[in-house]
Amino acid sequence: MIAVLGAGTMGNGIAQVFAQHGHDVVLRDLGQPILDKALGSIEKSLGKLAEKGRLSAADRDAARARITTATNLGAVSSASLVVEAIVENQQVKCDLFRELDGLTTPETILASNTSSISITKLGAATRRPDKVIGMHFMNPVPLMTLVEVIRGQATSDASTHAVMELARSLGKTPVEVNDYPGFVSNRVLMPMINEAIFCVYENVATPEAIDEVMKLGMNHPMGPLTLADFIGLDVCLAILNVLHEGLGDPKYRPCPLLKRMVDAGWLGRKSGRGFYRY
Ligand code: NAD
Repeated sequence: MIAVLGAGTMGNGIAQVFAQHGHDVVLRDLGQPILDKALGSIEKSLGKLAEKGRLSAADRDAARARITTATNLGAVSSASLVVEAIVENQQVKCDLFRELDGLTTPETILASNTSSISITKLGAATRRPDKVIGMHFMNPVPLMTLVEVIRGQATSDASTHAVMELARSLGKTPVEVNDYPGFVSNRVLMPMINEAIFCVYENVATPEAIDEVMKLGMNHPMGPLTLADFIGLDVCLAILNVLHEGLGDPKYRPCPLLKRMVDAGWLGRKSGRGFYRY
């Protein structure tokens, strides 16, 4: 059984993908209304796949039937793998990993879907740092093939191998990276987004023009500012702060315009306004 902790955007998708590939899943969040909403999203997503002919009606129903929900953390105690996808807060995640360490069997691998928090620090909160690893899925999880597998300082070869194999069995392509701030995905992506924001700040061009240059000129499916609005400007700022503090290099300094937009509550798509209006 696979336990997925956190039934938000990412937890939903992760639970769905495991269930689609034959795993029993327990999805845990803090309250039943959140879990009911999550199940609704999963049913909708499975339904869309079935409508497009990518999943048979029987497989759709079987996948849904493999997912149960829980508010009690004890429900995850018999999991062979835990994938944590709760809020991006280091202290909250460390506390949860400490609790999971006491609750699950010593063989259980504890994986985190964190975008930027140190896997090494999460490992150090447990007595099994060799079994703590990053399993970084991309949004939307059912559609995106990459899983960035992050090895902390003490993560073992055996844990890494097990998680890489598991990701492959889900139809994903795992890529192994080491644990430094932002891993590879956000270390490369966020400076590009930040630079695009500096271009707006310095009036080099309009957001529309910047996105058009990157789409048509670099063959990106979506421009960096559209992508920033999709990710959430608060999330972009938090990741840039992790890069800036963790690597100590001024080249990661978040653009003052990004900070001001977050202060204004212009968080992108989710708040109705970012570089664009929604
Ligand atoms: P979200 O806010 O949509 O969902 C988080 C969920 O965790 C909420 O439902 C919340 O109630 C729950 N939660 C909070 N504390 C909890 C606890 N102690 N136990 C159980 N549940 C708890 O967030 P999200 O966008 O799904 O992100 C989750 C994780 O995935 C974060 O670490 C984030 O960095 C990472 N991530 C996000 C994306 C993305 O595009 N959103 C992409 C890759 C990775």
